[in-house]
Amino acid sequence: SLPLFVAAKNHATTDSKKVAVIDRTKGESFTYRQLLSDVSEKKKWLLEHLSLADLDQRRIAFLIPNGYDYVVMQWAVWAAGGVCVPLCTSHPIKELFYTIGDSQPSLVVIHPFFDKVHIALREQVKDVPFTEFNPLSSTKNINIVLLPPFHESLPLNRRALMIYTSGTTSNPKGCVTTHKNITFQADCLVKAWKYTSSDHLIHVLPLHHVHGIINGLTASFLSGATVEMYPKFDPRIIWERWQDKGSSTMFMAVPTIYSRLVDYFDAHIRSTDAETSSREGAKALRLVVSGSAALPTPIKVKFAEITGQVLLERYGMTEIGMGISCGLDVSRRLDGSVGWPLPGVQVRLTDKETKKIIEQDEEDGMIEIKGDNVFLEYWNKPEATAKEFTPDGWFKTGDVAKRSKENGAYYIQGRASVDLIKTGGYKVSALEVERKILSLENIQEVAVVGVTDEEWGQRVAAVIKLRDGAGPLDLSTLRTQLKQEMAPYKIPTILKIVQGIERNAMGKVNKKDLLKKYWPDA
Ligand code: ATP
Ligand code: MG
Repeated sequence: SLPLFVAAKNHATTDSKKVAVIDRTKGESFTYRQLLSDVSEKKKWLLEHLSLADLDQRRIAFLIPNGYDYVVMQWAVWAAGGVCVPLCTSHPIKELFYTIGDSQPSLVVIHPFFDKVHIALREQVKDVPFTEFNPLSSTKNINIVLLPPFHESLPLNRRALMIYTSGTTSNPKGCVTTHKNITFQADCLVKAWKYTSSDHLIHVLPLHHVHGIINGLTASFLSGATVEMYPKFDPRIIWERWQDKGSSTMFMAVPTIYSRLVDYFDAHIRSTDAETSSREGAKALRLVVSGSAALPTPIKVKFAEITGQVLLERYGMTEIGMGISCGLDVSRRLDGSVGWPLPGVQVRLTDKETKKIIEQDEEDGMIEIKGDNVFLEYWNKPEATAKEFTPDGWFKTGDVAKRSKENGAYYIQGRASVDLIKTGGYKVSALEVERKILSLENIQEVAVVGVTDEEWGQRVAAVIKLRDGAGPLDLSTLRTQLKQEMAPYKIPTILKIVQGIERNAMGKVNKKDLLKKYWPDA
């Protein structure tokens, strides 16, 4: 049986009152026992709906708000032998349409909360059956623990999940992972970050992405922890929640969320009555993690100043779950490092041109990954899948990193395709320049890109959003400010001041789109 279900049954047996999910929208708590029972019901509903004995690897797409109903649906699909395709709740119709069209599900389940989306989608997608998620009948006060009588012989190498990549570099690809993959991905985090049944996670991340699904939900449920689910992130609610010191132990988020938390603290909490309890409540958390995009050092520093928490950074992607992570030992969470390979995950760096393995430290190399965490395939794209693996079976992430000589920790330099800028024969990491610019005053957001140029190959360009009320900033002032900070060839020679920088649901900037928008002719 699935390790996740076995674990859940154990948690339910050990403590029949152990809460799995606190649903902040419903204002209700659900025990592991209740969850297993509801999953069983939902599985029956699914199979009856489709007149099938089991889902036999069929894909079920669902659009359900973050909360208990989502978890029940996901587990029910697994219990019935199907593959989950969680849809992004903040995606516009066009993108939902793309995901549904690409994943070819046997059924699309839409929660009543999204009834308008439901109508619009039904009009556009003609060849896929839709149904409304029927809210669970109140089966409270159940007496028996019902383990979903799921496909006894289902081998762990069967497909479980199809998550779409964030679409930062091109159209999102459906990444198929097996039960073995996702169990491994969650389990190596449980080991590294030491989740236990005493943990209580405040969960605010989207649930169509590994960060929210694997690191947030799956690792917690394997451990018997409690997950408190919010429909979306709101800095005010999180600070208020943290003021209740000791009532939660973990928080996980993307860099833009930490940036908003820090800004909110400065604007609304600093120098108020809530200041001390906010700082101390946040300080009491056991684990606070950042990832999915580069964490700007100034945000890490400010967050530590306010809360005493040194954010734990880790590196991962849809295709591999998490690969590299800092450990619980705070003293080793170095500035900007994402740490060391997770238990059971193999990491190597190779030369971009020669493809040779880089043995030396402090040299830029392409990150390649091997291990049971690595996905099975891109859905319906055998060529794309084959292209991303080396002949000896390593997955090519497309990201560049270097390893520190001192202690073997990894430093992400960015994506080879957009973040490594070549200017006048020099290589510049966009991420490094972004960090330096963000540490200047009055900078709210920045994205650094390489603009094609006849003379230089590429020129370093900074797209900047200034803080509200900040005075104007011109290129020569920016260059003067950066002179002390970095080598002259790294300093931007183009500056674009903008009202906002577009980001996707995971807070990532699509740099190709950004280039097209501001430099259409380059
Ligand atoms: P697509 O593959 O569709 O272009 P995407 O790569 O952004 O989108 P994800 O799988 O969500 O989709 O993101 C993985 C990428 O996020 C990694 O390849 C890496 O570039 C970036 N990333 C993840 N964690 C970190 C981190 N800690 N620091 C810097 N970059 C990170
Ligand atoms: Mg990617």
